[in-house]
Amino acid sequence: MRVLVTGGAGFLGSHLCDRLLGQGHEVVCLDNFFTGRKRNIRHLLDNPDFELVRHDVIDPFKFEVDQIYNLACPASPPHYQFNPIKTTKTSVMGAINCLGLAKRVRARVFQASTSEVYGDPAVHPQPESYWGNVNPIGQRSCYDEGKRCAETLFFDYHRENKVDIRVVRIFNTYGPRMHPNDGRVVSNFIVQALKGENLTVYGDGSQTRSFCYVDDLIEGFLRLMNQDELVGPINLGNPGEFTMLELAEKTLAVVGGPSKIVHEALPADDPKQRQPDITLAREHLRWEPTVDLIEGLKRTADYFRSELD
Ligand code: NAD
Ligand code: UDP
Repeated sequence: MRVLVTGGAGFLGSHLCDRLLGQGHEVVCLDNFFTGRKRNIRHLLDNPDFELVRHDVIDPFKFEVDQIYNLACPASPPHYQFNPIKTTKTSVMGAINCLGLAKRVRARVFQASTSEVYGDPAVHPQPESYWGNVNPIGQRSCYDEGKRCAETLFFDYHRENKVDIRVVRIFNTYGPRMHPNDGRVVSNFIVQALKGENLTVYGDGSQTRSFCYVDDLIEGFLRLMNQDELVGPINLGNPGEFTMLELAEKTLAVVGGPSKIVHEALPADDPKQRQPDITLAREHLRWEPTVDLIEGLKRTADYFRSELD
């Protein structure tokens, strides 16, 4: 197949490109390099089955492809809040452009949605049936509401135009090729520990997240995309739930060094808890995570160690 990956030079996108090429597909990687990096895909540039296109998903595009994965969007709070209007445009216009293309060329189209559609959840753990608790006018809204609107567009194109969609709600995922200055918690803590700097826990550190290793997540993407039973939305994530203080302690245990834990202000609207209910993925995709947090932190620390050398 020919497969389009928007956001293909980013953290998740570059791993997805690797897996698709490994399965013998041709890949068109579209990216505007806002948070993506050439170094994530440099090893693919000489591959005749790989094509790199510098383009912004808010502007229309045309490719003859069989499948589309729409991953283009900054994912880290400091990056998506840098230009919030652009973030909403990227989610909404990017979805419209991918869906329009899918409709024209009859491609199956995949949306990288997010656990942020549940906002600061009042139901715990979060099943797909939960409608969420999202502030529509806060600092996270450009991302949360952009992704919620993208889901709306996916399901309306599906109902109205019979577009063949798949929608996944991704919970916090980490691993090699995160940007060292990405701003998300796992990369921050590991890079801080490797540099001997203090680990910055926001607030009292009692808020929780559930962390999935990247290889597990990409396996889930491929399983959802290549079956005909389910369109989604479907949660993918690791149900192992940790407080940010526990994450900081585990990071220090894995990396070692002189760093201490310090506390900084909690950002506005920071969700207090988050854990995926992955019953649907277990039952329909036979998918569940295989890499535990300590093993994943070790692999990610190895990557950042080589990056920082
Ligand atoms: P990332 O920032 O590393 O990757 C995003 C990629 O999209 C980058 O390569 C960036 O340059 C590109 N991009 C951004 N805006 C664009 C635009 N307007 N046009 C073209 N390209 C653009 O983040 P990631 O973690 O790889 O996230 C990939 C996708 O998965 C995002 O849509 C994100 O919302 C979603 N997601 C990720 C997580 C996670 O924990 N990693 C969780 C939930 C959802
Ligand atoms: N966080 C933290 N220190 C950091 C970065 C983030 O304590 O240096 C916290 C943040 O406040 C949030 C959690 O870690 O409670 C996860 O943050 P991240 O930005 O990785 O993802 P998201 O909030 O989007 O789940």
